[in-house]
Amino acid sequence: MNSKRINREIRTIEKMIRIYERAHPAPVNSPNDYNKLYAYAINRLEKCRYGEQKPACKQCPVHCYQPKMREQMKVIMRWSGPKMLFHHPILAIRHLLDDRKPVPELPKKSRKAIRETNTRL
Ligand code: SF4
Repeated sequence: MNSKRINREIRTIEKMIRIYERAHPAPVNSPNDYNKLYAYAINRLEKCRYGEQKPACKQCPVHCYQPKMREQMKVIMRWSGPKMLFHHPILAIRHLLDDRKPVPELPKKSRKAIRETNTRL
C-alpha cells in the first residue's frame, strides 16, 4: 500500500497529464502515449527509494526516470504547473511546498543497492 505522500504525487501527476492532454491530444497513431507515461510514473513513484520522505523528482539525485520519459514529464509539468493553481489549487500548493523541501539523505538500504548495481556494471 502506498503512503499518503506517494498517493498525493500520483494524483498530482495524473491531473497534470490530463490538463496537458486536453490541450495536446495524443497523436492518432499513438493514442496511449499519455496513459503509458502515467503508468510509468506510478511505477517509479511506487518504487521510489525515498518512500514517504521523497524529494521533488526534479531535485532528486537518483533520477530514476528513463531520459525520454523524464523529458516528456518535464515538458508536461512545465506547461501544466501554472494551470494546476487554477484547476487543483490544493494539490498545486502542496506540490510547490514539496519542491522547496531539502533533499533527504538516501536511505542506507538504497545506497547499498546502488553500490551493488554499480559494481555489476
Ligand atoms: S526521481 Fe527520485 S524522487 Fe522521483 S520517484 Fe525517482 S527516486 Fe523517487
